[in-house]
Amino acid sequence: MQSQKTQQHVRGRNRGAGLRRIKGERSQAYPAAKNKVITVRFGELWLRGKNRGAYINMLRSNLIRLMAGERFALEYGYDRFIIRPGSDSGLEAIKGGLSHLFGISSYEIGYATEPSLARISRLAREVLLGAGIREGEKLRINAHRTYKGLSFNSMDITREVISIAESMGIDPQIRDYGREIFINVTKDSAYVSMERIKGLGGLPVGTSGKGVVLLSGGIDSPVAAWYAMKRGIKPVYVHFHGFPNAGEAIASKVPRIVSILSAYSPGSRVYYVPSHLFQAGTLKSGRFELILLKAFMLRVAELVAKSEDAEAIFTGESLGQVASQTASNMLAEQYGLKMQILRPLVGFDKQEIINKAMAIGTYEESIKPYRDVCSINARNPATRTDVATIARLIKDERIQGLARRSLKASTIVDSQQGGRETPHPPG
Ligand code: ATP
Ligand code: MG
Repeated sequence: MQSQKTQQHVRGRNRGAGLRRIKGERSQAYPAAKNKVITVRFGELWLRGKNRGAYINMLRSNLIRLMAGERFALEYGYDRFIIRPGSDSGLEAIKGGLSHLFGISSYEIGYATEPSLARISRLAREVLLGAGIREGEKLRINAHRTYKGLSFNSMDITREVISIAESMGIDPQIRDYGREIFINVTKDSAYVSMERIKGLGGLPVGTSGKGVVLLSGGIDSPVAAWYAMKRGIKPVYVHFHGFPNAGEAIASKVPRIVSILSAYSPGSRVYYVPSHLFQAGTLKSGRFELILLKAFMLRVAELVAKSEDAEAIFTGESLGQVASQTASNMLAEQYGLKMQILRPLVGFDKQEIINKAMAIGTYEESIKPYRDVCSINARNPATRTDVATIARLIKDERIQGLARRSLKASTIVDSQQGGRETPHPPG
């Protein structure tokens, strides 16, 4: 409200004054692109009280890992990071990294100067020229002071920038504006930007511990993995394949999906678990076969979670999406498990999941053909399952033993950013 008053006041005072047109300057890039500065703002981190330090450290190390190979300087100031790219090409890579970083509310690409009214005004003028703003365009001025010990306040800044804008033929507005200029003043610097980008929000990956994600290669489970990461979970993937050995699964679309997800959480570990021991070891349980298969998968996931020190298991199930995904089946498949099972997509429509998969970048891979273990099983699954029946079947089928043996027969693939380690057995 304050700045609204200021703008009205200044506009009133200048009303009728002839507007100076600055011609011929606009094609030049003011100021030099190489001096760009990126301001990264934390979001929810502020809610974290005494854990704040740990959250910021995790965010910082995720940021550094996402930008591996790029030269840049990183400062931590009050409620934000300040990044200075080492080169123009580095700027693009850093923007790419920031667009995949959980735990930030927004980032601005702009320039820095000394925190004085004269310097800020000069820089604001250069930034407006450099942004290619045209005469008559409507501009909102968004000035903010983090440090209150300076001799001027945000109203003074707004007033200055309004008169600069008007002298350039730009129309300062509070509502119905087309462009926006952001001015932020701290104790040591002032930042001016016309490019504010919304961050992914959420929490820095790793701050909520590890989670085992059951990853099928379909559309849903990569999206579930993304939502787990969004809440600070570092994923460990478990994939069940129907091949005689892991080679074919390791050469399939599954690692490509993992690699896309790794843009949000650098480095990954995937357990490729064979399903043939389960297939050979179970009696023909007919309509319950799919539930038993899920019970088997969840048991393997629980064993992995224990050895990885993970705190929960994530699946891409969504209530009622297919005949087998009913609440009673979900309860039955987790019979006897102690580990928490989280299903981030439970309230999503299929189309919403598809849209999200497209935005994340996994959709194109997910729809490619693949021999999924679930499709080998019963076509007419039970939709209402009585837990007692499943309890008896789970005991009869010696599922726990099959899970242990299958995990032993699995292959682990670790990938660091930009390279893959040799597959190895567990233990
Ligand atoms: P998705 O698109 O994730 O495959 P879906 O709608 O096809 O899900 P299901 O095939 O019933 O549904 O699988 C439900 C969930 O079970 C998956 O989201 C995934 O978490 C897990 N799952 C299914 N198949 C596998 C597999 N081969 N390996 C690991 N997890 C699996
Ligand atoms: Mg599936």
